[in-house]
Amino acid sequence: MSSPSFEDSPIARELADLSARRRALESADVELSGRTRVLTVSNQKGGVGKTTTTVNLAAALASVGARVLVIDLDPQGNASTALGVPHTADIPSIYDVLIDDFPLTDIIQTSPESPNLLCAPSTIHLAGAEIELVSQVAREHRLRTALDAYLDSGEHHLDYVLIDCPPSLGLLTINAFAAATELLIPIQCEYYALEGLSQLLGTVGMIQKHLNPRLHLSTIMLTMYDGRTRLAQQVAEEVREHFPNEVLATVIPRSVRVSEAPSFGQTVIAYDGQSAGAVAYREAAVEIIRRESAPQNEGHS
Ligand code: ATP
Ligand code: MG
Repeated sequence: MSSPSFEDSPIARELADLSARRRALESADVELSGRTRVLTVSNQKGGVGKTTTTVNLAAALASVGARVLVIDLDPQGNASTALGVPHTADIPSIYDVLIDDFPLTDIIQTSPESPNLLCAPSTIHLAGAEIELVSQVAREHRLRTALDAYLDSGEHHLDYVLIDCPPSLGLLTINAFAAATELLIPIQCEYYALEGLSQLLGTVGMIQKHLNPRLHLSTIMLTMYDGRTRLAQQVAEEVREHFPNEVLATVIPRSVRVSEAPSFGQTVIAYDGQSAGAVAYREAAVEIIRRESAPQNEGHS
């Protein structure tokens, strides 16, 4: 395979580039601040990569030594599945926290992937929570109260909390907005990528005004990028034009390994940590850690 024609080919260049990026990651110097950052991964559009981003970013952060909690707020429970955490109907879950005041500590499980990677699982019961929450006291703040109690007990330290939201702007997502300081929006590099974004940002504006003034859009992640299509390049350019400070330099490529990993109950970091998708999520994690020095990114102290 050492013929000059292969070395000059696009695939060879891509492989060389990937090796260089892997080496750069190995020598990357990352320092955690000791504060807890709470990010909600939201976009009311379905299938844009919210869950994939939540679990893979969480695993990538854990792999550089961060202690990370994933809160699965989606009744589909896909984040719990991908983290290899049992979440059948009989398992205590985030539903019990939101509706029956269970402390988070009673429901949190450790992912078999890493002792640094925790998950507050979702079960099928959560499907009814959207309705049941309507009649609850402080219905928008139930997650925040539970998370504050967990963090303020002084018994647990977390560097990151990532909340995986369902594809809607209902009470579950509102609970995530009330509990977080940062909003991470994954955007799929496809048609209509920006559709619905103004509605999402409008809701965030209302939340800032009435429920949680500390919430801000800190990060936009471009996902499922296929660099061979002009459309993906155009979408990426357009999003960067609108949000020059929020879009990460790292772009997550469309990758079979990323889509295969959940069916093995794994993140792509564990499933194939050297693959292009895993490398991209690890780069995104380093970028997000480094961005913390920006003054607007204040975490839970
Ligand atoms: P929902 O709105 O239903 O919660 P979502 O926004 O959480 O969806 P995902 O479930 O993360 O989206 O992703 C949607 C689909 O796209 C899944 O089948 C997932 O495996 C696939 N997918 C996500 N990211 C990638 C990627 N980088 N490469 C290939 N496939 C991907
Ligand atoms: Mg999802």
